[in-house]
Amino acid sequence: MLLTRAPRGTRDILPPEAEKWRRIEEKARELCRLYRYGEIRTPLFEHTELFSRSVGEETDIVSKEMYTFEDRGKRRLTLRPESTASVVRAYLEHNLNAAPQPVKLYYIGPMFRYDRPQAGRYRQFHQFGVEAFGSQSPALDAEIIHLADQLYRQLGLPDVALEVNSVGCRRCRPPYREKLQGFFREKLESLCPDCRQRHGTNPLRILDCKEETCRSHFREVPTLGDNLCPECGSHFAALQEGLKNLNLPYRVNPFLVRGLDYYTKTVFEFISPRLGAQSSLGGGGRYDDLVEVCGGPPTPGSGFAVGLERILLALEEEGLSKEEEAPEVYVASIDAGALPRVDLLLRDLRAKKVSCERDFLGRSLKAQLKQAGRSRARLTVLLGGDEFREGKALLKDMATGEQDTVSLDSIIDAVLDNLDREV
Ligand code: AMP
Repeated sequence: MLLTRAPRGTRDILPPEAEKWRRIEEKARELCRLYRYGEIRTPLFEHTELFSRSVGEETDIVSKEMYTFEDRGKRRLTLRPESTASVVRAYLEHNLNAAPQPVKLYYIGPMFRYDRPQAGRYRQFHQFGVEAFGSQSPALDAEIIHLADQLYRQLGLPDVALEVNSVGCRRCRPPYREKLQGFFREKLESLCPDCRQRHGTNPLRILDCKEETCRSHFREVPTLGDNLCPECGSHFAALQEGLKNLNLPYRVNPFLVRGLDYYTKTVFEFISPRLGAQSSLGGGGRYDDLVEVCGGPPTPGSGFAVGLERILLALEEEGLSKEEEAPEVYVASIDAGALPRVDLLLRDLRAKKVSCERDFLGRSLKAQLKQAGRSRARLTVLLGGDEFREGKALLKDMATGEQDTVSLDSIIDAVLDNLDREV
């Protein structure tokens, strides 16, 4: 066992990168405040059955990718591969269906899938997602899509493309399923092994296949869009009206089915042109039967989940995420006698919300100044020598090189003034 390596498909997030994560998370939280979603934190593991029933036995997630284990009490548990099922479970457990609807919730946290690791695909990855319960309105779907779109835009990813489709409901999907099975029946030989299996169990997923042999049939395949029942048809039309109204450009992708079984009517995905094979930045849709499947009263729902790793990758491709946060002040000491005063100055600066740093390795003054430059601190304060004994410090602006001698009594004010902060 390699004690110095994180398990395959997982990774550490170190301070400069964690900074970028926080920026994304803060933006997500701010948007949720504006769109009126409240935070929910659910356990990282749930009863296995919750996922197998809701996500679907035949899906890749449930059939191949779950981290499932038996605990010491012989319960079958699974590390959550996604959060919608958990949020539905919590909605029912806490009787949120008795609250005024829609109930709007969001989450940020790790998910676990035993996937083949590659760029943008991990076994522990992170999602930000929202779920809204209790309304069938296509306007709610449009609002949810708008929220996701705003996240990408405000983070600096303007060229993210939105694809939408409708996967129908329990009335129009079964006859379409049969139609699809009929269409592929005489073409079975030419389908990939996965799709040959899907043909019997979940033929809609054939439309999701990336293999050229399967895709070659897509030109003639009957689409769900042409086979929606009147209710789903007008819901989809209203969704598109809502998107146009919000000035959100989109493309109808008749082959968008998404890899989870619980979707009904609206499905959507955000694609980045910069991410190659793992181009899906996030997606979601409506799940009007899921609450019932999980044992609750019939309750419509709608939501999305976006992958934080993918956002970071896309930002890196844009060259937008290199910035590392610099301290505002570096406090250097000319001699060891000044160190206790250095610590007090750090304490007082931090109390004024100034980020600051000192040396802890006994570096020479020269090495400290080099360190201050490398950290890109805006100001350096030097304590020690004759000035220190006279109750003074040197304050240096690192950009202009200008230096001032400042009385120690007023050093905090001088720093704040130089940082253009309120004194
Ligand atoms: P899904 O829950 O499969 O609809 O995925 C929603 C989003 O989560 C995707 O668009 C990706 O951005 C992200 N995602 C899904 N699986 C992974 C993974 N294995 N590693 C990293 N991100 C993922």
